[in-house]
Amino acid sequence: MREENCIFCKIANGEIPSATVYEDENFRAILDLNPASKGHTIILPKNHFKDVCELDENTSAAVLPVAARIGAAMKASLGCTGFNLVQNNGASAGQTVFHFHMHVIPRYEDGPAMVTWEQHQSEAEELQQTATQIKNNL
Ligand code: AMP
Ligand code: ZN
Repeated sequence: MREENCIFCKIANGEIPSATVYEDENFRAILDLNPASKGHTIILPKNHFKDVCELDENTSAAVLPVAARIGAAMKASLGCTGFNLVQNNGASAGQTVFHFHMHVIPRYEDGPAMVTWEQHQSEAEELQQTATQIKNNL
C-alpha cells in the first residue's frame, strides 16, 4: 500500500530521515519542514492514501486520538495554549502533497494568525437547497 514516487510514503516508512515526534504501526508524525509555528507537526499514515476520501476505516478511526495526544503533548512541552487540526483535500483546498496527512498546529498567545475565510449572508431557502444537493450524493 505504498506508492513508488511518494515522498511521504518514504518518510513515513523511515526511508528518508525526519524529525519524528511519534510513531506506531500505522503512523509516523514528523515536524513540518516549513512550520506555521514552533512544533507544527504532520501525521502521516504508513500506507498511501491520496486524501481523506481514500482513507480506510481503521486509519481514520486511529488518526484523531493520535492528533489529540500530540496536541496535548505540545501544550505540556512547548507552552502553546491551543492547537488547530488542519487537513487539506485537493489542490483547490491547499493540498500540495497527495498522501493524506493531518496538520497539528500549535497556537501561542501571539499567534500564528488564525486560518480564516470571509463569511457571507445566506437565505434559509438557499441553505436548504444546498443541503439537499449534498444529501442526495451521500
Ligand atoms: P499540504 O499543503 O496540506 O499538502 O501540506 C504539506 C505540508 O508538508 C507542508 O506544510 C510542507 O511544508 C510539508 N512538507 C513537504 N515536504 C516535507 C518534508 N520533506 N518534510 C517535512 N514536511 C514537508
Ligand atoms: Zn504516499
